[in-house]
Order: sequence, then C-alpha cells, then structure tokens
Amino acid sequence: MPPLISATSCWDILSLVFNVMEKKIYILLLLITLGCTTSRAPDKQYDWLAYKQSNPHEYFETRPILGNKLSDRFVELTEDDIADLRLMASGEMSKHLKSNVISVSASNEKFSWFKNEIDSIPSEIQELLLKRVHGWSLVENLGASGTILGLRNDYHYYEKGIVLIDISIFRKTYEERCTYRESTAYQLKENENVSCNYEGSNISFAKTIFYHEAGHLFDNLNPMSTKKMAASNHQLFPFNRRSWVEHDHEKFKTKSKFDDLIPNRNELKYYSADFTTKIPSNKLDENLSGWEKSNFFTLYSMTNPIEDWAESFTHYLISKYHNGKYVVRYKDSLGKTKKYESCTKADCTTKFRLIETYIKNIDLFI
Ligand SMILES: [Zn+2]
Repeated sequence: MPPLISATSCWDILSLVFNVMEKKIYILLLLITLGCTTSRAPDKQYDWLAYKQSNPHEYFETRPILGNKLSDRFVELTEDDIADLRLMASGEMSKHLKSNVISVSASNEKFSWFKNEIDSIPSEIQELLLKRVHGWSLVENLGASGTILGLRNDYHYYEKGIVLIDISIFRKTYEERCTYRESTAYQLKENENVSCNYEGSNISFAKTIFYHEAGHLFDNLNPMSTKKMAASNHQLFPFNRRSWVEHDHEKFKTKSKFDDLIPNRNELKYYSADFTTKIPSNKLDENLSGWEKSNFFTLYSMTNPIEDWAESFTHYLISKYHNGKYVVRYKDSLGKTKKYESCTKADCTTKFRLIETYIKNIDLFI
C-alpha cells in the first residue's frame, strides 16, 4: 500500500514544524522523523520491474513494421514509452536521467538533420545495425545523450530496440561532446582542458551515440553479454575477463584489472554538476597514463563493463569504417599539452576480435 504522504511533502512538513516551533518539540520531531523514514515513497524502479514481471503479456511488444532503410525508421514514441523513460529516471542505475523527458516529433526543425545523419552512416554499418535496431526516435530533456527502449519478443527476450537520441547533441562533433563529457568528470583549473577525438574521421556525435546505443542493444542478446556479467563472475565471459575482475554488489562497482594503474577509475562520475564529486585535475596525468596502458579503448569505457562493451562496439565501427583514431589530449594550466593514444596492443586486438566474431555471427543469435 502506498504511503499517505510522499517523502518529499513529509520533509516539507518537518522543516515547517522545525522553523515554527524553534527546536522546542524534540519528541514530536523525532516521531515525525521516524514516520518519514518508514513512509518513504516506494522505489519506483522496483515497482516498475515487479509490474512488468506480473504483467508480462503487456510487454510483448508488437510495433508497426517501418521502412527498410535505417533513416526511414523514425518512431513516434507512445505515452507508455515516455512513462517508461520517466520511471527509469527514478532507478539507481539511471538517476542521471531527467524525469521531464519529452518526445520530439518529426515536425521539429532538427528532425531532417538527424535523418540525414543516419542516412549518411556507411551502408555496411546500417546493414549491421538493422539486425538489432527496430527504429530511432528523438527526445528532449533526457539528461543523457541517448538511451534505448528494448522491445521483447514472444520468448521474453529483448530482441530489438529503439535508439533514442537527445536533440541537445544537434550538430555537435564527436570532439565537442567528448571534451565536454570529460570536463564533467574532472575539477579543471582555468585554462586546463581534456579533449578527446576520433582523429581523421570528423565524425558527428550523433553517429557515435547511435552506434553506442545500438551497441547496448547488441549486448542484450549477446552470449558475451555485459548485462549478465554485471551480476555474475566476469571470468566466465570472454569479453569481460579481458578487463574486469569482480562485481561488488554493495558498492555497485566493478573492479577492473587496471585499478592499480588508474587509481581514480572507481571515482569517475560523468555529467556531474557537483564539484565535490569531481576528481582533482592533479590526478589527470596519472589517470590518463594509466588508461593508455589499459585495454579500454576510450575514457568512457572505463566506467563499467556495460559501457565498456558499448564503447568498444562503437570504437570497432569507427576504427574500421570511418578510419578514426581515438586520442586524448591534456592541456595543463601552463599550456603544456600531452597526448595519449588508444590501445592497439595484443590484448586490445583480442577484444576487437571478440566483437567482430560476435557481429559476424549475429544471425545465429536472432
Ligand atoms: Zn551507454
């Protein structure tokens, strides 16, 4: 049964009482505090999953068949889709997602730009992505560059999905967005800068986020799945055991094989507006030098196994079909710049080969 008053309004009442009575009613305060603690709003993420489990047939999705071309597969999101996204925003995993996300229609001025971007994805990549991407849609106020909505088949599996792109990345280059993302993780001093780019490719961020989100969709049925791995023994899975050791369920963190080399990897928090959670910039050289010696292809792939898979999948496509070479540059406050390059050693070739093997045999898993 839901609480009669929500946790938020409960704390409002509490602070009101505190202000009016000026600390004279400690016992009453204690009682209200206990009431607030025990009547906290239910965890919506939990309720959402429980609802899905108890009403599975409502989630065996049948969506209209869209055009053959990837660019013709624009999806108008339903009210249920948006409701799902808003509920995901309350979950621990997706708390960075804003709950005021809205759908953007095809009449939006930015629509044709995104459609052209998708149309200009190399045909080999389009053909590959169509194996997992049912369609794509545009949203606003997502609080992230993109996300996915999984569509289940009659066997309960997430067979395909919809890639959602936030229009805030409209016309951004990969370098612009990647550089912005790194600036949210580090407490940079004036004139300091961490930039990252796929040199030689001049690729838009819209394309890379499309690949990245599609990569998450490929992960859902992947026998080397990082989804499964987040909750189990990484050594059982060929892709993960190259980089990850074990998952700490209490801290919701996964230990990587490179944590001694990259001492602040576990504290990396992207898109944080809170200065106290940012890593001081004097740790940057050590972190970036450690990253260069690791087998993580990009900086973002260091965050957890799920992002490692999506980033590695993206890196594979950009390296192979766009000739992009991922590099990071750190310019310190004195203007001195140091360059760091993405891994090409044997360990990384193996990760590359695992992705390629899976992609080439994807039809076996559909
Ligand atoms: Zn991701």
